[in-house]
Amino acid sequence: MEMWLKESQIEGAAMTYKVKETLVRKKTKYQDLAIVDTEVFGRMLILDGIVQLSIKDEFVYHEMITHIPLFTHPCPKKVLVVGGGDGGTIREILKHPSVEKAVLCEIDGDVIDECKKYLPEVSCALNDKRCEVHIGDGIAYVKEHKNEFDVIIVDSTDPFSMAEGLFGGNFYQDIFEALTADGMFVAQTETPFYLPDTVRKVYNDAKSIFPVTKLFMAAIPTYPGGYWSFTIGSKKYDPSDVDTKTIPKLDTKYYTPELHNACFVLPKYVKDIIGEK
Ligand code: SAM
Repeated sequence: MEMWLKESQIEGAAMTYKVKETLVRKKTKYQDLAIVDTEVFGRMLILDGIVQLSIKDEFVYHEMITHIPLFTHPCPKKVLVVGGGDGGTIREILKHPSVEKAVLCEIDGDVIDECKKYLPEVSCALNDKRCEVHIGDGIAYVKEHKNEFDVIIVDSTDPFSMAEGLFGGNFYQDIFEALTADGMFVAQTETPFYLPDTVRKVYNDAKSIFPVTKLFMAAIPTYPGGYWSFTIGSKKYDPSDVDTKTIPKLDTKYYTPELHNACFVLPKYVKDIIGEK
């Protein structure tokens, strides 16, 4: 019998993946968690029916959400990840020799435990001595820390349930205060094709708080629409105007110095959504 995973992306459209094996399926305190092995994309982490990552294409998301801000900041030493319990973002952060501490604040400890068990290629850096794991709500954690992080990465689930507050103006104000004087944050901000209102709101909320706000895009096959947005709010440095000759060589599969500034060049329909010329 064939087993297919169907992820509904928007009313009337869905993606399907042929499943070879279900490795774990459980109700955690916060969500329905599954890790399945699929024919085309390898192992996948699914939360509440939504694909969070696949082994085949996770490098795009994790490299882009990490290296764009970390190669914009001249010397990131302390970095916070909100969400990101699979550990992929921490793995990429710890490739930067300037980083002394990477804090992961994930609300659901089961995500971390199951990813350590079934997705070792992604979670491998969570036991690194520079990584500190905090289980709790990222909204409260950010509120409690002031002037502490050079970079904050919001690696969250979609804007529903306990992640809803991670997409709001108040949260970005708290992030501003948790950052050092020349700090910056980046957030995964959904697909402009299916969720233009979310992309517009996040961009405008960030823009009302940060001196520099920029949106960049990356092609991620397993995310709805395949073309994903990330928003950066920065107190000082412009992430789209980095001297790419100064970027050292790093072991990556998607990110390159040439791509760094180029990923900020947006299609017309995306510029229209965020109201930029
Ligand atoms: N790459 C992913 C994506 O865009 O699909 C995100 C992956 S990561 C698994 C998202 C994590 O955010 C989940 O493990 C979820 O538990 C966590 N999360 C959601 N809301 C949170 C909150 N308020 N505080 C901390 N973590 C949160």
